[in-house]
Order: sequence, then structure tokens, then C-alpha cells
Amino acid sequence: MNKMGFGFLRLPQTDSGSINKALLNQMVDAFLERGGVYFDTAYTYLDGQSETALRESLVKRHQRERFRIADKLPSWLVRSSRDCQRYFDEQRQRCGVDDFDVYLLHWLNQQNYEICERYDEFAFLRELKAQGKVGKIGFSYHDSAALLDEILTAHPEAEVVQLQLNYLDWDSAAIEGRKCYEVAVRHGKAVTVMEPVKGGTLVKLPKKAEELFRAHSSDSPARWALRFAQSLPKVDIVLSGMNRLEQVVENMADVEPLTGLEQAIVRQAARIIEEETAVACTGCRYCTAACPKGIPIPDFFAMYNAYRRDPGEDWKIQPIYQRMAAECARASDCIRCGQCENHCPQRLKIMSRLKEITGVFE
Ligand code: SF4
Ligand code: SF4
Repeated sequence: MNKMGFGFLRLPQTDSGSINKALLNQMVDAFLERGGVYFDTAYTYLDGQSETALRESLVKRHQRERFRIADKLPSWLVRSSRDCQRYFDEQRQRCGVDDFDVYLLHWLNQQNYEICERYDEFAFLRELKAQGKVGKIGFSYHDSAALLDEILTAHPEAEVVQLQLNYLDWDSAAIEGRKCYEVAVRHGKAVTVMEPVKGGTLVKLPKKAEELFRAHSSDSPARWALRFAQSLPKVDIVLSGMNRLEQVVENMADVEPLTGLEQAIVRQAARIIEEETAVACTGCRYCTAACPKGIPIPDFFAMYNAYRRDPGEDWKIQPIYQRMAAECARASDCIRCGQCENHCPQRLKIMSRLKEITGVFE
């Protein structure tokens, strides 16, 4: 079994911070050679560079029949029905294709769903499908199971739901991974998994969790996380953001579903990680672009997590915090406008966590 899809959100970079095209080409080739077919991008990924990188590394170099592309309409940027068509045409141009195999409304949550409904974005997707310009339609989702149920009831035409599913978020009260999966299954939808390693959180684990896995098998922590997602029976695709060739090779190796014992080990690892992680930030940085004060939120959360894991390291962390606060902004500069929380896919209580950080580091 292997359900891997190639996520074009995190791509390999050169030392100067641009996309490493030569390495990306190698990774795309290796993925296709190993039987991979599914590529996932979005209008907003890497400020549009994800779609053009996909055109250069995949579309221009391989036959169209060899791969499937999923792209996403930036649902929250739409301000008129005409905008939908404008974004779609621009996306086709950026990707160098006439059609998409899967086309999703990007990032539905309560706020964005209201925008979708205001501009009838589902009707736009239905029309594209009727015209044969897209294959399957649906949406990617970051909100409660109850809202998901409401959307799927109102829009049975959605065929695919892209969800954040991983063993750490499975029983999380904020993400409701399991509940969302169960709602999608109840509505008979195909499920695509995003963030199976939670933005890298499940790659580098607290020592105790790593030892727990190692005592059972030589698989890497990332592979345990990917096996968890791939073991869910109604999951069709598991997206992985890769930036090294070795990751492609490791991820495309055959995967056995988790056994009952392994499921128990994974649950135990999740408990350890939860105990040792103060703020479950994935470092995606969606919040920083939204912050009017320029607060380096994920960097502060990383420092806070390190501090909470080992308060004795305070003497090392403090100077880094002070330097970054002087260069960018302090946690206490937060004006509680709430913009960051609106953009956080992990639904973190950013404002109150910044207050804690102020108490510790200032
Ligand atoms: S609430 Fe604070 S941290 Fe969040 S965007 Fe506003 S100023 Fe920035
Ligand atoms: S706080 Fe939320 S939006 Fe910001 S980097 Fe962390 S997970 Fe991403």
C-alpha cells in the first residue's frame, strides 16, 4: 500500500532562499518512478511560486497522462463571482495546464465559508466540473466537525475533503481530527490528508517518544506518522511536503497498516508529545503575515516550547528572545487585534500564549 501525494507547500531551497529547481526536478522524477501520481498545490503557496515550480518541474518535463494535479481556489480572497474565473484562469496559466484533476476551495472555516456562500463559490466549482475543466471538486478544511457536517449537508456535490489528520491531532479538542474524519466518512467523501507529520512536529520528537518508537522498530518517527495516516481506510491520498530526495525514497516505500499494538504505541507517543509541548505550533507562519506589529510568533513559540521542556535552558533562550524582540517586536507589543488567530490553521490561542511568553521572557 502507498497513498502518498507530493505536497508543493514546502519545497527544497537553495542557500539564498529560492526554490532549488535542480533538486526539485530530481525529487519529482523519483516520485513518479516509484509510482507516485498525485501533486497538490494552491494559489497562495509560496506566494504563487508553488504553481510555477510545478509547471517547470512536472508539467513541462512529463506527459500529462502520468500525473494528477490538485489545485485550490483562494476562497477567502474572492470579492465577486468574476474573481473565481480570474483566479482559475491565472492558476491554469501558472501551472501550464488546461484542466485540473482535483479542484478545491482552499481553507474553509467559519469565516471563509461565509465568503464562499456570499459569492457562490460551490456553484463555480459545479460549473467547472460540468464543463469538464476539473475532475473532482471539494474543499480543504480547518474548523470543527459540526461545521464540516453543516457544509457537507448543504453541498453534497463536494467529492473530496482535505483534512488535517495525524496521530497528535486525532483526539485534539481544537483540531477534532477523528471527528472530522468520521463526518467525512459518514457523508461518503474521499479523504485527502494534509499535515500527516504536523508541519514537522512529528519528525523531531521529545526523547521519550522517540525511544518508545525505537524500542518497537527501526522506522523513523516520520514513517510512523505517515503509516498512521495511510492506515485510515477511507483515506485516498496522504500529502507529504518534501524537501530532500531521501524523503521521497523513504515515503514511497511500501507501507504496512499499523497493527493494534502499534496503534497503542502511537497513542502513547501522542500523550508524551502533548505533555512536553506547550504550544502545538507547526511553524507555517500564516500568522506572521497577518500581524500588524510584526511579532515573530512561531519563533517565540519555539523558544517557549524549548523553555517549557527544560526551564534550566533559560539562560540560553533569553538572549535569543531579547535579540529577536529588539529586531522585530516583543510578545508584549501584541495589541490583541486577533488577526493571527483568524489565520492559524492549528486554531491556537495565540494572544493568550503571547501573554504567557511575556510573563516568562520579559
Ligand atoms: S493579536 Fe497580537 S500577535 Fe496577533 S496579529 Fe494582532 S498584534 Fe499580532
Ligand atoms: S501560530 Fe499558527 S499560524 Fe502561526 S506559525 Fe504557528 S501554527 Fe502557523
